[in-house]
Amino acid sequence: THSDQGVETSNIHNIDETIRPKRLDDFIGHKALRENLKVYIQAALERGQALDHTIFYGNPGLGKTTLAQIMASELGVNLVSTSGPVLERSGDLAAILTNLGKHDILFVDEIHRMPISVEEVLYPAMEDFKLDLVVGQGPAARTVKIDLEPFTLVGATTRIGLLSSPLRDRFGVIQRLEFYTPDELAKIVTRTARILKVKISPDGALEIGKRSRGTPRIANRLLRRVRDFCAVNGAKKLGVEEASQALERMDVDEIGLDYMDRKMLQVLIEFYNGGPVGLKTLATACSEDVRTLEDIYEPYLIQCGFLQRTPRGRIATPKAYLHLKTGLLK
Ligand code: ATP
Repeated sequence: THSDQGVETSNIHNIDETIRPKRLDDFIGHKALRENLKVYIQAALERGQALDHTIFYGNPGLGKTTLAQIMASELGVNLVSTSGPVLERSGDLAAILTNLGKHDILFVDEIHRMPISVEEVLYPAMEDFKLDLVVGQGPAARTVKIDLEPFTLVGATTRIGLLSSPLRDRFGVIQRLEFYTPDELAKIVTRTARILKVKISPDGALEIGKRSRGTPRIANRLLRRVRDFCAVNGAKKLGVEEASQALERMDVDEIGLDYMDRKMLQVLIEFYNGGPVGLKTLATACSEDVRTLEDIYEPYLIQCGFLQRTPRGRIATPKAYLHLKTGLLK
């Protein structure tokens, strides 16, 4: 209904929190990871110790923040969230660390963007739960050691390669999050639909799952937009027809590529003969930011086998030529 949609736009954050899985058993897909985490959590609880420091890496929207929150609730501890770029000075991090309770989780999103001076504060904190504070300046400066409560650092990054090795070496668990399969995404869509009280058929959920670029956040977003189309068109149920019509209108093609995905491939093929071409050049030609292309668009195009990264630049594969013939830019 319309009032439903009103709530969603004014309260977007709350909706996100409502549909976010709260327990490990609600987390869909990544079975091996889920089972391992269960063991680590149980072992930490039995030993009465903080969980090992953990890092999750992978594309945006695959569930890194969700997992950190689930770990905190399974352990029954608080979660304190921050992010690499927000921690500008070492004092910012020191203040957060000294306020952590016993076995709490400190979640640092985009941990690869933390300044090195801040990172250095983390080393002794992660290793011995101690903080080395420098008090005073010049010859009068001295180091004071402060004891911290044992805590768990959960880091999230899209770029594990940008992490310095001293930092990486201090994590006990390093876990990659992969793209999800269409079936897993269909399950996520079905679960979200149940929470949002949207009637959806299994093939409708699968259609959205197939077009979500392997990413739960995108699947949930597409579901909400398809629901809008259904509400306005007076559809009683969200089936495969409703899903594909709405997604087509949103310019999401049958394998989930959106306008920018196709533009990137088209520019590569039509302006640069299929490459190789540098990412910067490609970004300028697409009027898009280099980081966005690299972090958001490129990984999925590579995963689908449309794009290859070579030492001389990006190249379009024959599969990309084939796909664009059926999915020309409007
Ligand atoms: P970022 O690093 O950009 O914050 P992220 O990888 O942390 O991204 P999340 O915010 O955890 O992504 O996930 C995005 C949304 O997708 C969440 O709101 C959650 O509802 C949903 N989601 C993610 N993973 C799963 C999953 N395995 N099962 C069900 N829902 C999921």
